[in-house]
Amino acid sequence: MSAIAQNLSVVCERIKQDAHAAGRRVDDVMLLAVSKTFGVPDIIEAIHAGQRAFGENYLQEALDKMPLVQAQVPTIPLAWHFIGPIQSNKTRQIAGHFDWVHSVDREKIGRRLSEQRPEGLPELNICLQVNVSGEASKSGVPLEEVLPLARVLASLPRLRLRGLMAVPEPTPDRARQHAAFAALRECLALLQRDGLAVDTLSMGMSADMDVAIAEGATIVRIGSAIFGNRTYP
Ligand SMILES: *Cc1c(COP(=O)(O)O)cnc(C)c1O
Repeated sequence: MSAIAQNLSVVCERIKQDAHAAGRRVDDVMLLAVSKTFGVPDIIEAIHAGQRAFGENYLQEALDKMPLVQAQVPTIPLAWHFIGPIQSNKTRQIAGHFDWVHSVDREKIGRRLSEQRPEGLPELNICLQVNVSGEASKSGVPLEEVLPLARVLASLPRLRLRGLMAVPEPTPDRARQHAAFAALRECLALLQRDGLAVDTLSMGMSADMDVAIAEGATIVRIGSAIFGNRTYP
């Protein structure tokens, strides 16, 4: 078994145990393999180990790798999730090449993604990125601005608002990890009470996935625990 296949089976086992400990069904937690900075051969290894959903942060890197990966496994359906910061001049490429976008944090970006989503493709699944760490974090919408923005995003014709995403400020303090993820969970519940059909909490990375699953994560975004440590160019 390759190192990546071995890591994937460890991560899947952790998800199973964390879901069980939280009294949740393991099928309700999806593993998104974050392949940013890792090459096509690593992604292919993960696919051969059964992984189908991949997350990328950097548009050009993703656009370079995606066709090479798909060409090697032409019959396997893959799902590509964009999880990085979005510049408005990049929305057309994102709308044309991804199945999900987790990092929508402004109305303008949502409108462009909706307008630019190609006709032949299904609605683009999106999550609204929330800042659950206050001053400590620059990315994401403050909690109090989530509801009005979610209503607008949910109304856009070519998007399907699925839920919320957060990248809390890293902390070894477990209580603070719980608090950040619980805030996102409560925010999703608020949208549901408002009548929005949202079902997704994209939260938890290699270091804190157990806490995120305990607090209700439905997608965990895991990179280094699968592919190893990243070296940035
Ligand atoms: C890199 C990244 C991840 C994965 O982080 P790991 O610590 O490698 O698991 C998840 N989400 C986002 C938004 C990222 O940028």
